[in-house]
Amino acid sequence: MSPNHTLTLNNGAKMPLVGHGLWKIPKDKTATHVYNAIKAGYRLFDGACDYGNEKEAGEGIAKALKEGIVKREELFIVTKLWNTFHNKENVEPICRRQLKDWGLEYFDLFIMHFPVALRYVDPEVRYPPEWFYDGKTPTDIQLSNATIRETWEAMEHLVDIGLTRSIGVSNFNVQSLLDLLRYAKIRPATLQVEHHPYLVQAPLMAFAKQQGITVTAYSSFGATGYVEMDLATAVKTPPLFQNPLIKKIGEAHGKSAPQVLLRWATQQDIAVIPKADTVPMLLENLDAKGFDLTEEEIQQISGLDQHLRFNDPWVYFGTLPIFS
Ligand code: NAD
Repeated sequence: MSPNHTLTLNNGAKMPLVGHGLWKIPKDKTATHVYNAIKAGYRLFDGACDYGNEKEAGEGIAKALKEGIVKREELFIVTKLWNTFHNKENVEPICRRQLKDWGLEYFDLFIMHFPVALRYVDPEVRYPPEWFYDGKTPTDIQLSNATIRETWEAMEHLVDIGLTRSIGVSNFNVQSLLDLLRYAKIRPATLQVEHHPYLVQAPLMAFAKQQGITVTAYSSFGATGYVEMDLATAVKTPPLFQNPLIKKIGEAHGKSAPQVLLRWATQQDIAVIPKADTVPMLLENLDAKGFDLTEEEIQQISGLDQHLRFNDPWVYFGTLPIFS
């Protein structure tokens, strides 16, 4: 899987198959991290208002651009619309603020982070606003009346005025996609969802493919990304890196467990955005090429499915069961 290996989206845009996720990278480390990742060969970065490090990610990009390591058009920058900005009048202003933070003139892909509209929080008051209206109380989830349609149409306008090249959705299921596809003038280019061998979601993957929507997997390593948050369900889940089947398949191909997990997805044309913490991890995750799993191995890995989801507001703070 070379750094330039791309998938063609339904609007003709080319999206790298392997990118880098920016969630949980501390602000003070983000600029260097992004810069190092570009030097290592990464071209896609997956950010979000909610990750609180867009400005710093932009600084890393600016340094790489200034040094001529990469050109803007070689990068594929993804970010997300947070739930508190779903009302149509808030979509363009927040996208412009995010562009300013990144120091960019356009995004390659702007994604609706969740199909959940929360009451507006003024960015001057708290940014990123996160889930709770008062900023601290888990039961203080206040909804907005914006429909997905209202938000999507405002996102389509972002494409029309050139603030983003593509738009997509995240954490949508088939029900919400079916509704969106009734009125979308611009069909979602991508669907970003949690996806790993413990959460395979074969019907959702097949539906997206049938509709020409490219899937990006997040949390490809399953519990690993949530253990660092001390999430109880993740801590008690046996790590995929230690799973005997994943290890056995890795040994057969002379590849590491992370590489097998990434290849399992990418070989099914599912893009991945692992978050690495060190330069060796960056390189290891990018270098998952040079081998193909057999169809039988792909099926065996898919057979590990436990329908186990980690990134769920219900699991985090016991309110808003959006995946139920
Ligand atoms: P991940 O599956 O990428 O796992 C990250 C963890 O794996 C970290 O602890 C890291 O140290 C470890 N790791 C990475 N490479 C490794 C390697 N080669 N060897 C050993 N350990 C390794 O988890 P994630 O951060 O949850 O997901 C990746 C990205 O997906 C995020 O950064 C974010 O951009 C995106 N994401 C999106 C959503 C959404 O709602 N759309 C939700 C979660 C994550």
